Amino acid sequence: NLKKLRKEEILKSYDIKEKLGTGSFAVVKKGIRKKDGAEFALKIVKKKNLNAEELMTINDEVEIMNQISHKNVVRLIEIYDTPKNLYMVLELLNGGELFERIVAKGQYSEKMASELIRDIAGAIQYLHEKGVVHRDLKPENLMYASVEDDQIKITDFGLAKCLESDGQTMSTACGTPGYVAPEILKNEPYDKQVDLWSIGVILYILLCGFPPFYDENAAGLYAQIKRGEFDFPDPYWADISDQAKDLVSKLLTVDPKKRCSSELLLAHPWISQNAAPDKPLGEDFTKRLTKFNARRKLRRGIQMIMAVNRLTRAFTVDLEN
Ligand code: ATP
Repeated sequence: NLKKLRKEEILKSYDIKEKLGTGSFAVVKKGIRKKDGAEFALKIVKKKNLNAEELMTINDEVEIMNQISHKNVVRLIEIYDTPKNLYMVLELLNGGELFERIVAKGQYSEKMASELIRDIAGAIQYLHEKGVVHRDLKPENLMYASVEDDQIKITDFGLAKCLESDGQTMSTACGTPGYVAPEILKNEPYDKQVDLWSIGVILYILLCGFPPFYDENAAGLYAQIKRGEFDFPDPYWADISDQAKDLVSKLLTVDPKKRCSSELLLAHPWISQNAAPDKPLGEDFTKRLTKFNARRKLRRGIQMIMAVNRLTRAFTVDLEN
């Protein structure tokens, strides 16, 4: 579905509408397909703004997305490659981010968290089988297609990497502080297990409303992550099942070889046996998650300015700091 065309060609097929968002490389606008009125997200990358390395990153993203078709992963419909721009026609994700929806719903339980993690883990297992490592799993990259739809979608393959063989490892320092695996921070070669660490961080937040690793200071945060230093403080964790805590501990295991794989995650009783309690997590949980969301938004605003200034690719861990 790769089309090398001129801009007029995409305008023949799509009406380009309002801006939906801005990334470090791209502007994303709504696109309406003329033949049937269907709505999509057009990710528009201006090629002249990119250096050779960045162009390669975009090419990787396109190539990876081209091989993927899974109900819990955003779909790439087609690509238009014009002399100036690259247009990625993506499934439109109009239903908001996962954490926003949880807060808006108001009622939420361990059972709902276990179903979400099951879907995310299923998609990650699918990607890993194809040799694709996402490398940037975080709440911002978990979205819904529409308000009515409750199928979670993994997005943003901007940092994803395709491995040639099962034993191949990577060494580029990337990811997002807070969700990044210890082996990346330690500058060690790493593999697909980094995604399982990030799922562990997401699961932890899904159960208590605050992150497992937190420090105002980046060096302090990285030290905590490298040591895998977290706990289940009372009273926030008092009502959470032992099975849920067991799974969090298996995911947030510093040694990637001992860390739970996507297969073991899907086989864990808290996921596979429908064992997670359906009891509401309560008002305080929602309040904490609301606070967490607000802090994230603020941070994202700052990172966006950094991206615009082109000081750094937004959200990339700077190991020098
Ligand atoms: P990043 O630095 O996050 O990797 P990027 O240049 O790869 O940025 P994206 O993150 O893919 O760009 O997109 C930027 C913004 O556009 C997102 O934060 C989101 O608000 C919006 N967006 C991206 N994809 C979609 C989509 N499929 N549907 C709706 N909105 C989208």
